[in-house]
Formats: sequence, structure tokens, C-alpha cells
Amino acid sequence: MRAFRLTGPGTARLDEVATPVPGPGQVRLDVLAAGVCRSDLAVLERVEALGYPLPFTFGHEICGRVAAVGPGVPEFAPGDEVVVHAPVGCGRCDRCARGETNYCDDGHESGATGFGLGLDGGMADAVVVDAARLVPSAGLEPAHAAVLADAGLTSYHAVAGSLSRLAGEDAVAVVIGVGGLGHVAVSILRARTRATVVAVDIREPALELARTLGADRTATLGSGAGEVRAATGGRGADVVFDFAAAQSTADLAPSLLRKGGDLVIVGSGGGVVPVTKPGSLPAGSRVRLPFWGSRDELAEVVALAREGLLPVRTEEFGLAAAPEVFDRLRAGEIVGRAVLTPVR
Ligand code: NAD
Ligand code: ZN
Ligand code: ZN
Repeated sequence: MRAFRLTGPGTARLDEVATPVPGPGQVRLDVLAAGVCRSDLAVLERVEALGYPLPFTFGHEICGRVAAVGPGVPEFAPGDEVVVHAPVGCGRCDRCARGETNYCDDGHESGATGFGLGLDGGMADAVVVDAARLVPSAGLEPAHAAVLADAGLTSYHAVAGSLSRLAGEDAVAVVIGVGGLGHVAVSILRARTRATVVAVDIREPALELARTLGADRTATLGSGAGEVRAATGGRGADVVFDFAAAQSTADLAPSLLRKGGDLVIVGSGGGVVPVTKPGSLPAGSRVRLPFWGSRDELAEVVALAREGLLPVRTEEFGLAAAPEVFDRLRAGEIVGRAVLTPVR
């Protein structure tokens, strides 16, 4: 079968590999859709620092159809469509037992953080995963379902942790970086809160997408501060979600917050926010660094999508286009989420 693999620092290629066989408690999925995340670009460039074992197949945002079932998996049968909860932990601690593998203290013995992040993932014709990490997705378009597994789940978990700050009648949320993750965050804020949503990006097509998904106001990076002042009567936003976390957004974000607000840093752009008292963050601020989400939260995200409450924008490509899609994402040419569709 074909697999788009990271073979060495900065080197990825479409390879021919043996079709994997599911062991006890595992299933093999034919991959219907695998999302392409900006984290994949970072992993490609920084894999040595991350310490992932090489080579491995990219793809941590996976929707597939069960093709083969290993021993001891009564709950799934060939033909079932599922999404994969891909973060991996030690598999033994209480957090792993609760499906909070994203916050396992020990981590996976291999040094991987997930399927497609050190372990073979979904940018392939097939992938083998543990049945315990599958969430049924029947009724959802595979590309839509795939995006829920990271862009959806990470945004959902990021919003969930700050819902208390967004409960007020006049709450205002800012989404900086309306890409794969950020555009789903706009939908999630619409679905879960009554907050006014201000979307900030450097690309006009991203802002157009934000408006389509129901953002109340949009702004370029330079006009973000003025737009948030206008939306809040000068008070500042209750929560700022930074999905870019470049230095330019890290510089801006604290100035957009009201007292007692949350700064939620989701992006891994490396921008530094000085946390000092006194400093640029208003009194009462909380800084949060959410990572991915739990298995139960993925089930909640899928349920929201089934209710029609999570519109997403996807652009679909064949598996062979993976190198080109990585280049297009790097160049800022993808609006919403790019999704590879190996088996259709
Ligand atoms: P993406 O490229 O699809 O989206 C990024 C968006 O930010 C784009 O719309 C881009 O135009 C915008 N942007 C870039 N620089 C900007 C700036 N200076 N000001 C305003 N907007 C700017 O990326 P993505 O796949 O959505 O990932 C976003 C970030 O989140 C990445 O850094 C990724 O590594 C990280 N990530 C974090 C988690 C987590 O669990 N915390 C999970 C997945 C991805
Ligand atoms: Zn990701
Ligand atoms: Zn664990």
C-alpha cells in the first residue's frame, strides 16, 4: 500500500509499504480521509528535536472504514466508519484510562505523541489503530469527520476550558489565525456560546471564511486592536484564542484582553508572551496552553457535527498530492483544512 512517510529530517516521500495486520484489540482502517495540519510541517522540520522514531507515516487526523478486525474487538465490524482519537500515552496511568492520553505524564514508550506523530498515521491507504480509540462517524462526510479529530477536537478542548469566561451576555471572544483549527473554533464558539466573535488573520480569504461561519467582526492583524475595542466598548475581550502564536500575535494578544480574561495559546509558532506582575497581561488573566483533547471530547465533537452545528471548510486531494499539499499549506494557499482522500 502507499504511505506518505517522514523518512529523515526535512525529508518526506510517498513510499510503498506492507499493509499492516491488526493485532489483539486493534483494527485496520481503509483511510477515507486524513487532514493535513500545520503541525505536520513543524514535525517535518523539527523531528530531531521532537525525538520521534523514524520513519513513520504522517496523518493524525483520520477518518476510516473498518477493513479488518483483530482478536477481541466485538464492538466493531468491517464497514463501520470511524474517526481516530490519535494522541497516545503510556496506556497504564489514570489519565490514559480516562481517554486523556493527551495529558499522560509518562507518554508513549516509543517517544511518539500520536498516530501520525511518531507512530504510523493516516496518510496511507490503510492504518492499524487500537479499537479503544475509535469514535463512530457514520452519517458524516469522511473529510468533515477527519477534521474533527484534531482541528475540531483541539479547538473544542480549547473553548471548553474557557467556557466560564464566555458565559456573560456581552462576552467577546477573539480568534487569531482562522486556518484549519481557527475556522472550526469559530464554529464551536457559535455552537457552544453566545459570545460576539472577532476573527483576526493576515489573509483576506481566511477572514471571508470566518464571516461565512458566523464571525461577527473580522480584522487584519494591524486593525485587530481597534476592532476588539469597538466590539467591547474599549473594555477588552473575555477570551483571546491564539491559533498562530507567532511573535506578532503574541505581542498583540495581551493588549486585547479585559481584566479577568483568558489568553489561550493553541498555536505552536513560538511567540513569547512575558508573564510578569505587573506586566502586559491584565489583572486576573489566566494563560492556558491546551493540547489536543480527550476521547470523550472527541465523541462530543462528533455529536455536535451530527447535529449540523459544526460546519467546516475542506479542500480534498488524492494521497499522491501530499507533497504538493504540504507546500501549499506552507505557502498560505489553503483556506480551511486540506484533506487527503487515499481510498474513496
Ligand atoms: P493553518 O496554517 O491552517 O492556520 C494558521 C492560520 O493563522 C492561517 O489562517 C494564517 O493565515 C494565520 N496566521 C499566520 N500568521 C499569522 C499572524 N501573524 N497573524 C494572524 N494570523 C496569522 O494552521 P493550523 O493547522 O490551523 O494550526 C495552527 C497552529 O496550531 C499551528 O501552530 C499548529 O502547529 C498548532 N496546533 C496546535 C495543537 C494543539 O493541540 N495545541 C493542535 C494542532 C495544531
Ligand atoms: Zn494537528
Ligand atoms: Zn498514561
